[in-house]
Amino acid sequence: MKIKTIKARPDQLKPKPDEKKLGFGQYFADHMFTMKYRGADGWYDPVIEPYHSLQLDPTAMCLHYGQEIFEGLKAYRGTNDEIFLFRPMENIRRMNVSAARLCMPPVDETVFLDALRQFVLLEKEWVPREKGASLYIRPTMIATEAALGVHPADEYLFFIVCGPVGAYYAHGFGPTKIYVSDDCVRAAPGGTGHVKAAGNYAASLYASRIAGEMGYTQVLWLDARENRYVEEVGTSNIFFAIGDQLVTPPLGGTILPGVTRDSVIKLAAHLGVNVDERRLAMTEVITAIEKGTLREAFATGTAAVISPVGRIYYRDREYLINEGNAGALAEKLYNEILQIQYGTREDPFGWRMQIG
Ligand SMILES: *Cc1c(COP(=O)(O)O)cnc(C)c1O
Repeated sequence: MKIKTIKARPDQLKPKPDEKKLGFGQYFADHMFTMKYRGADGWYDPVIEPYHSLQLDPTAMCLHYGQEIFEGLKAYRGTNDEIFLFRPMENIRRMNVSAARLCMPPVDETVFLDALRQFVLLEKEWVPREKGASLYIRPTMIATEAALGVHPADEYLFFIVCGPVGAYYAHGFGPTKIYVSDDCVRAAPGGTGHVKAAGNYAASLYASRIAGEMGYTQVLWLDARENRYVEEVGTSNIFFAIGDQLVTPPLGGTILPGVTRDSVIKLAAHLGVNVDERRLAMTEVITAIEKGTLREAFATGTAAVISPVGRIYYRDREYLINEGNAGALAEKLYNEILQIQYGTREDPFGWRMQIG
């Protein structure tokens, strides 16, 4: 499939923001990729074109029934101006798992990767040079058919936008405070917790707001059935270092299979850490904190890579983890993964893909 490119006119180009003040998801590059789908024709008209607003019928089905999925990955600039992606095939495959769960059409893996490659290279100047900054890429698929009956749509739009994001830890590798939600749940068995479906995030906002009002950064979700087992934190996966083990909940249909989670599991094992994917009750976490065997905790995701947890609030009490500090293992894994992403160390896993 040949991707057409329509370059922005000079007057359509946006000013580049200050790379020291990027934040997350505030600036978008000059172009976007779009491709349409109709049941009878499949995918058609792949094009990279100037960034623009979408025009949708008010009854476009994504607006009513949430048939919408997305992905998140990054492009990194190496010291010799190389451009790297990190394990993009994982995002491509996960997007197609999300599509299947929401009765949406899959995107051919080769076309998807080609679109990413050509799009990011066209926007190469938007890949930041500032240390720790990167180009965040957001592939998205929405149901565009104009109809109000509840059924899988016959028409879709796949688009990719991207924009520069800042170093997550502009002021050092700081720990977050997390709030364990005892009443709201994120995902139930048989639901859509294992895919990046837009509706999951709408459903999570209420508990996040409560956590925020209590002074916490993120929500730690427990399982929907018993409200007992740790699942994930915000839009990240969670790890606890207990005794000599690094424990993370298993993928069982309610947890998003994070690319960073998988990378941390493989890298930690490679470094000789004993990693255990198993169910972990919140009571076990609290007991380990009280006995002093819980050494550290951290969350993993593309945006922050590794986010150490310093405090945890559960049932009217706040507990300190590692005296409220970032742990040594979190910091080690963070540095190793960043070095692989930016091309400053060898990559024994073949995770880095150089595209330019
Ligand atoms: C995206 C996401 C993650 C992290 O996945 P990565 O591939 O590591 O970015 C974890 N949990 C949820 C709910 C997510 O949406």
